[in-house]
Amino acid sequence: MSNDFQTDSRQLLARLRTAMAEETAGQARLDMITHLIADSMKTEVCSVYLFRDSETLELCATEGLKPEAVHQTRMRLGEGLVGRVARTGRTINTPDAPSEPGFRYMAETGEEIYSSFAGLPIQRLGEKLGVLVVQSKVARRFSEDEITALEVVAMVLAEMAELGAFIGEGAALTALHTKPVVFRGATGQEGTAEGHVWLHEPRVVITNPIADDPHRERERLLDAAEQLRDAVDRMVSGIANGDKEQLEVLEAYRMFANSRGWMRRMEEDIARGLSAEAAVEKEQSTARARMEAITDPYLRGRLHDLDDLSNRLLRILSGQGKETGADMPPDPILVARNIGPAELLDYGRSLRGIVLEEGSVGSHAAIVARSLAIPLIIHADRITTEALNGDHIMLDGDNGSAHLRPEDTVVTAFRDKMAMEAKAQERYGSIRDMPTVTACGQRVHLMMNAGLMADLPSLKGSGAEGVGLFRTELQFLIRNQMPRRSELSALYAKVMDSAGGKKVVFRTLDIGSDKVLSYMKPTDEPNPALGWRAIRVGLDKPGVMRMQLQALIRAASGRPLSVMFPFVAQYDEYRAARAEMDKALERERILGHPIPESLELGAMLETPSLAYAPRRFFEEVGFLSIGGNDLKQFFFAADRENERVRRRYDTLNVSFLTFLQGIVDRCADTGTRLSFCGEDAGRPVEALCLAAIGLRTLSMRPASIGPVKSLLMRTDLGALRQVIEQAREDGLQSVRGPVMEFLRSSEG
Ligand code: PEP
Ligand code: MG
Repeated sequence: MSNDFQTDSRQLLARLRTAMAEETAGQARLDMITHLIADSMKTEVCSVYLFRDSETLELCATEGLKPEAVHQTRMRLGEGLVGRVARTGRTINTPDAPSEPGFRYMAETGEEIYSSFAGLPIQRLGEKLGVLVVQSKVARRFSEDEITALEVVAMVLAEMAELGAFIGEGAALTALHTKPVVFRGATGQEGTAEGHVWLHEPRVVITNPIADDPHRERERLLDAAEQLRDAVDRMVSGIANGDKEQLEVLEAYRMFANSRGWMRRMEEDIARGLSAEAAVEKEQSTARARMEAITDPYLRGRLHDLDDLSNRLLRILSGQGKETGADMPPDPILVARNIGPAELLDYGRSLRGIVLEEGSVGSHAAIVARSLAIPLIIHADRITTEALNGDHIMLDGDNGSAHLRPEDTVVTAFRDKMAMEAKAQERYGSIRDMPTVTACGQRVHLMMNAGLMADLPSLKGSGAEGVGLFRTELQFLIRNQMPRRSELSALYAKVMDSAGGKKVVFRTLDIGSDKVLSYMKPTDEPNPALGWRAIRVGLDKPGVMRMQLQALIRAASGRPLSVMFPFVAQYDEYRAARAEMDKALERERILGHPIPESLELGAMLETPSLAYAPRRFFEEVGFLSIGGNDLKQFFFAADRENERVRRRYDTLNVSFLTFLQGIVDRCADTGTRLSFCGEDAGRPVEALCLAAIGLRTLSMRPASIGPVKSLLMRTDLGALRQVIEQAREDGLQSVRGPVMEFLRSSEG
């Protein structure tokens, strides 16, 4: 790149800055800018097209084309060369525009006499704002230097647009981040919520895209990069026990932070007149645009790392930390790219809802959100780019959508839905303290699932008869070191105290698969869900299980105790786990600690194999609890976290119900107590069918107890069972259709 060009583009930016400082309205400012660019670049035409809605671009200002075409000429995304630049986010530079594929000339603009065309996307951090076009009569390809200079100008235009510099009359000149947007993601946790956006990582606002002293800006950049490198080095050396995944991310950080190419490109943009912040953001925007086109998860991950690093660099440069001085709204809906379980717990119940760009159904954040009963939407692509702190937002966790800045009609419909839900909750309140007895006189026991001390108040609020599943992973997941026995026993004791004599079934640690502890040596497994997890880890490395069993015995301090082991696939595993419990009891007795007055030991039935265990196992085990989430994924061989397949097989599929029926029958035969504690127990129709095939204890999230109970109390299970059997005889794949029909007719 020639120094002349740097000087020219610096001059152009200096003129742009002057134009920005002038007290002109949006339109006049845009007109002045197109004039300045055409003049500086010595092109006959310079035009700015901006989006008027997500699908249509509008010519908003031009130097050289017919003025009457301004605000009249429009094209759809992908239409003509301008539409193509907007859709692909890539520059088109051609000496002979009419011969380009897709070329379409707009007669009203008078552009037919211009042969050369260069169109560049105006975009900011992956957000498409418009297209900058220069045209000239002479057939020539614009030089690399010219295109680079125009890229810098397009970047400044994007920043100006973000700051509201072009607001004027008409849809294309309305302020950004004001229109309604719907994000269709996936459900992480059901429920509806209304509130205002609280960005977990507020965006850095760049108020000075153009700088007048490139030397100073370069010094600032180098200084900030130095600080960044130090920070990354400190992170690498502070990492616990060589956690492989974290180390990999940090090594990628380190690689980028030391990358000469990355630094050089930013330094060049500074030489062209950008401020250090704008230079970093320009690189970040390019990376985000690339990210959109990449499907390889590894490469996407690395581009995410680069994005994170750019954010850190921007924060150092701008001095804008996570604390912006803004007050969290009273009804916050957390919006983030992703969030860890400990950070989420820090927010606790103050949140009304959560929306993430990433995440997965089984992620730690999802587990915490589920525990806190907060609606969670995952895979809400690019919401952190669009949402601003304080924006009005409504979440429909049931269908995984988030309505940002919703229109009045949406607000009304949504509030109606929430009012209906609130009314239903009231109805549930009136039956809360009644026993669950069906219309045909069957008693069903409804328990709740929990995982935190904070869940326990729901025991009373929901009317649950006890805790059917207390997941003990969270205390291990949210720390960066192994919790101590004394900490665990204090927590378990508090849980039992709060339950006030109601039963709490503690499940021993279920880690591995998706639940990875940062302080445990990671194992590389091709299929972690089928790998070294839960009881398998517990028995191979019994230290943690022993510690946990001791903590439970001490917490019970003489009270009755219920414990179950996760993921038992065969009889021997249960026997070995029970032997550990016997040893723990013996040790505690010798140490003089009180022994539980009664102890029931059970197993989770989460693998099909256990359904066919020897009769003796069924006679020996204290109780069984079906972990339907895992059992279903293994039954259908469909990953519970894979969006492509996880909804493909209905829980009410005849094969699955027949399989469950077999387990119920075997348990009835041997007198083994049986419950069901997967998520399906909390879905009213599914719960009804489970009860109809003979399950009499269901454990679910607290918010589901009311709806499930209400439906059970209105239903004749005998009649429903006949519907199920008929559907089976009729050769249907799923009983859902006839069951829904039965419910409609009995409600009607
Ligand atoms: C299950 O698999 O159904 C279950 C309750 O356990 P988790 O969801 O914790 O794997
Ligand atoms: Mg499970």
